[in-house]
Amino acid sequence: MGLTEGRGPALWTNPAQIIRDMAPDQPVMAFAPAVLRAQARRFIQGFPGLVTYAVKANPDKRVIRTLAGAGIGGFDVASPAEIDLIGRLAPGAARHYHNPVRSRSEIAHAVAAGVRVWSVDSFSELEKLFDALPKGSEIAPRFKLPIKGAAYDFGSKFGATPQVAAELLRSVAARGHIPSLSFHPGTQCTDPLPWDGYIRMAAEIAHMADTPIHRLNVGGGFPSHRIAGATPDLESIFRQIAKSVQVFDRAPQLVCEPGRGLCADAFSLITRIKAIRNSDIFLNDGVYGGLTELPQIGNLDRIQVLTPQGLPRDGNVTPRTIFGPTCDSIDRLPGELALPGNVCEGDFVVFHGAGAYSTVTNTHFNGFGQLSQVSVKAFS
Ligand SMILES: *Cc1c(COP(=O)(O)O)cnc(C)c1O
Repeated sequence: MGLTEGRGPALWTNPAQIIRDMAPDQPVMAFAPAVLRAQARRFIQGFPGLVTYAVKANPDKRVIRTLAGAGIGGFDVASPAEIDLIGRLAPGAARHYHNPVRSRSEIAHAVAAGVRVWSVDSFSELEKLFDALPKGSEIAPRFKLPIKGAAYDFGSKFGATPQVAAELLRSVAARGHIPSLSFHPGTQCTDPLPWDGYIRMAAEIAHMADTPIHRLNVGGGFPSHRIAGATPDLESIFRQIAKSVQVFDRAPQLVCEPGRGLCADAFSLITRIKAIRNSDIFLNDGVYGGLTELPQIGNLDRIQVLTPQGLPRDGNVTPRTIFGPTCDSIDRLPGELALPGNVCEGDFVVFHGAGAYSTVTNTHFNGFGQLSQVSVKAFS
């Protein structure tokens, strides 16, 4: 339990108020439900199909409940624990089990829980599904292409070649299940064109298999706002997807499963400067805490430095090396981060857009990682 839990209002005004009132010495993750609701609306209004949420990005109960309340009707789940979590928190919602590798006991758990939609990327795993699934289940072979455009291709572990995907698709239909297709273009994909390449290939796979598909899941990968001045253009991606799907003779229904694109910008991480050694900055959080994925996908540079009075530091910026609190040398942010030259020990560094793959991967390594969670009305 962190410093701020149980103290202060249930809903803070903004990070500056938390800093002024609490001067938290441990990292604090501030969640703005209003921002998450607005982002859910943006996806629901803009995406030409069903919007589901990839639970692994941030399985916080408040996130799941807020999204369900905002009209997100489905969730991409990857484990029995995620299946049960959604069953409890959003009982009416669809659950798509899109981890293409599962043990037989995990499959049995999902069948018993009423999961009806699955992805797969190999014949061995498809046979396991055939052994356990009731007829008429929806099975989406997942394929991959050597297309670049994402910040980090964490999907490269999964995905069949187009030829194998076509054979899988044909078997799915032959066994009396509902054939669909899926892909994931890689996370933080800012360029709309990879979706075009994948959607064209999906049409080709359906053609090769001579099997019309029921739905096409165009993955997650939708970008969040990570770089100051580079606002992600989700609407261009939505338009590209709507246009590209016209290559099908009979266009399938579309599904997307954003994780990061929905949740990241609804959170800001409040860290504190423990020490300034020469010009190196030591924060109270780092790559074992709320900033885990930065070495993988690059710095989150939407940062603000606030004094303990909650006022912005606005000196000329200079590049600084930023270390986390643990004794491990890899606990440093990639490259350098531009901070105001007049930063002081005891100041706060707020990282905006920090809600994806952060709280859920936070560790307690070396006795750190005492991350508290609070809610805010807004970030400024
Ligand atoms: C992780 C994952 C997602 C979410 O990816 P983001 O890049 O966070 O949008 C979606 N679908 C599957 C199958 C995933 O594994």
